[in-house]
Amino acid sequence: MKYCMPAIIPCNSVLVIISSIKAPFSLPQGASITHRSSTFEVPSLKALVLKQLHNLNETRQPLELVDLPTPVPDDREVLVRVSVCGVCHTEIDEIEGRTPPPRFPIVPGHQVVGRVERLGKTAAVHRIGDRVGIAWIYSACGACRFCRGGQDNLCDSFRATGRDAHGGYAEYVAVPEAFTYRIPDVFTDAEAAPLLCAGAIGYRSLRLAGIRDGDTLGLTGFGASGHLVLKTAQRLYPRSKVFVFSRTEGERAFARELGAAWTGVPEDDAPEKMRSIIDTTPAWTPVVHALRNLEKGGRLVVNAIRKEETDKEALLSLDYPRDLWMEKEIKSVANITRKDVQEFLALAASVPIRSEVREYPLEDANQALCELKERKIRGAKVLRIGRDR
Ligand SMILES: [Zn+2]
Ligand SMILES: [Zn+2]
Repeated sequence: MKYCMPAIIPCNSVLVIISSIKAPFSLPQGASITHRSSTFEVPSLKALVLKQLHNLNETRQPLELVDLPTPVPDDREVLVRVSVCGVCHTEIDEIEGRTPPPRFPIVPGHQVVGRVERLGKTAAVHRIGDRVGIAWIYSACGACRFCRGGQDNLCDSFRATGRDAHGGYAEYVAVPEAFTYRIPDVFTDAEAAPLLCAGAIGYRSLRLAGIRDGDTLGLTGFGASGHLVLKTAQRLYPRSKVFVFSRTEGERAFARELGAAWTGVPEDDAPEKMRSIIDTTPAWTPVVHALRNLEKGGRLVVNAIRKEETDKEALLSLDYPRDLWMEKEIKSVANITRKDVQEFLALAASVPIRSEVREYPLEDANQALCELKERKIRGAKVLRIGRDR
């Protein structure tokens, strides 16, 4: 995307032309150009941007609503008119600097559903009007040994949507066409958005957990990802019991509603040891206790891009013979591959696995993020930006 990122225009101001912006941006507001059979207006777009790092305990308004010039897609890119964008805990890690954007301002958001509005010169995958999704993987090199081996999530050139390139907290986003996904018809836009990260990374975690049908699975934390992992596990491993650990009674009750065999707080001993536990919390205490709840040879999968530092001293209570010995393993989950997203969307459509969603208007993204930080969660949070159709 040849995108001139710092060109910020405060809301309600007239369009300011920044000298570094390419020619198409310099059309007067409301002017139109014809491109690949579509007539596309080139106004500015509304977006929420992060201009600097913030501590969410000190500010409840980390993102600012601004007007940006609408990007022009590169040759193999498409411009997507966004209808919804999911809210992910990773946005909090970006805002608070645990995985900071390399430059500011940045439009966050990496669970994007919308429609193709404009095609780059040589873009050939989609037609205008196609419904597509965009996930955390914005691009990868395609040539390194990781990319060639189907591990584009580990590519050194991995770029993340909404961190390394503008994301979906905006009316439009430009993205490489190879990193877009057709959304199965069975889902509404809002149902589909959380599948693109919470669901797909949950699916990756579940595969990395390496369980077989009948093995007992544990989940620590029960937010957007946890509730989709539970539904996915019920489909893939119908004889497996799922135990859910959460600090909040709301999440535990929600887990029982969805069919969890047992729920407790992270410090509890589960009724039986588990073959694998997937941790989706931002904390360390649940990691230590999860290791205690693993059976011999069991695996803890940590599905978190970063951990917070607040309870890191909990690691000092780790007791090697009790918690790690007997061939217990710890495996982290990094990013997402395109294949994960494609496979999970197909699996989710076949069930179908539906996300439990709470919608917020784009302008209320800061509220949604603060509630996520405070773990006021039931299912997934989604920002409504445009219409479904
Ligand atoms: Zn995410
Ligand atoms: Zn690569």
